[in-house]
Amino acid sequence: DEAVTRRMVPELPPKRSHRQRSGAAVSLAYDCLIVGAGFAGSVLAERLASDGNKRVLLCDRRPHIAGNAYDFHNEDGILVHRYGPHIFHTNSEVVLNYLSRFTAWRPYEHRVLAQLGDHLLPVPINRTTLNALYGLDLKNEAEAALFLASRAEPCDAIVTSKDVVVSQIGSDLYRAFFEGYTRKQWGLDPTQLDKSVTARVPTRTNTDDRYFLDTYQAMPLHGYTEMFEKMLDHENITVMTGTEYADIQRDNLAAHTIFTGPIDEYFGYRFGRLPYRSLKFQHETHDISRMQPVAVVNYPSEAVPYTRVTEYKHLTGQIHPKTSISYEFACADGDPYYPIPRPENQALYKQYEALARVRADVTFVGRLGTYKYFNMDQVVGQALATYRRMVKTVLSDAMA
Ligand code: FAD
Ligand code: UDP
Repeated sequence: DEAVTRRMVPELPPKRSHRQRSGAAVSLAYDCLIVGAGFAGSVLAERLASDGNKRVLLCDRRPHIAGNAYDFHNEDGILVHRYGPHIFHTNSEVVLNYLSRFTAWRPYEHRVLAQLGDHLLPVPINRTTLNALYGLDLKNEAEAALFLASRAEPCDAIVTSKDVVVSQIGSDLYRAFFEGYTRKQWGLDPTQLDKSVTARVPTRTNTDDRYFLDTYQAMPLHGYTEMFEKMLDHENITVMTGTEYADIQRDNLAAHTIFTGPIDEYFGYRFGRLPYRSLKFQHETHDISRMQPVAVVNYPSEAVPYTRVTEYKHLTGQIHPKTSISYEFACADGDPYYPIPRPENQALYKQYEALARVRADVTFVGRLGTYKYFNMDQVVGQALATYRRMVKTVLSDAMA
């Protein structure tokens, strides 16, 4: 069921035999080797190739491009996301305009419901959620704010993912919506995670039930993979999927490397492993046209083993007599998906970052490369900024 990447290049160009010993300047096969064909690697490949006129080799260990945003038509012809639901949202016109060179868009505003007992309630918590859960009739924002204030438990310093929720909405709502979900998702109690994690889902006093409030919210009209194919369709770009960096690292293919995999892996885990959270997906197709009222239903209860269920046709707008869903199970082992935001992990990352800073021959970008819990648009923004910096530094020196 994997879409075959069209531009696989099975063989590397011939190596230059004299290159290392002579010490003389030699022309390497590529100007830049990019590891990882997700947003970080692909945006940089595109910029270097088409704006910088550089020859780029882009490799990924997976059998496809697009990183975690990879989508494909399954055996029933339904477009699904291999690695869970990816919804594009941004406030950056620059990022939107950049990606719009490679795709048209389908307007889509994401909505999520949480299953709490027999209730299906809007998340983030809003006035509708409160009224349904407590049988209230809060009529306006002021009434909802008063209700929340009466439950909130102020704390001196808001540090953890528990503090940030309890201080705004109190223990009951925290337990119902956040505690179990977070423990499942991260394998940690919210008291062990930075406040930034649960702060991604702020409570509202109005009845806006959209998951995101960004100015621009849309899905690539024909999917992410097709957008990536357009991005990488350039004569200066060679794509090698199914290729480990370790297997080509010593081939001296380029003077500069851009690494978008885990930074601790690059440095041989010399200070120890950075923790990443992984996921397992159970994909299913059912012989009915619709299973859920919205794209994603969250299951905060720890009695349910998965965190959420996604029905992809809501995201894509595809019309099809069947429907495809995926269950998400969080786990410690497997592909790294999420950096885990907590102080000790940040401290360990800083050690790796210090190693990276003194290396002129390699640049780290992306969610794994810079150990940051970034959304797609933030990775695109970071990659564009990295390119602008490289134009002034690396490109003018090493690649000149
Ligand atoms: P990745 O997409 O992870 O790409 C890195 C690539 O590097 C991978 O393909 C990997 O195989 C490759 N690689 C790593 N090491 C090596 C190596 N040694 N050799 C060869 N290849 C290597 N963001 C949103 O904006 N909206 C969403 O709705 C959203 N939903 C998400 C849902 C889930 C379940 C997950 C996990 C993430 C979600 N994200 C979402 C975040 C989004 O996936 C990331 O921001 C984005 O994909 C990061 O891009 P990247 O290029 O940094 O990393
Ligand atoms: N969260 C929660 N309950 C929910 C939704 C989110 O406890 O119903 C917490 C959980 O810790 C989660 C975090 O808020 O990891 C961020 O949620 P988001 O939907 O942004 O996570 P992502 O889409 O990145 O997995």
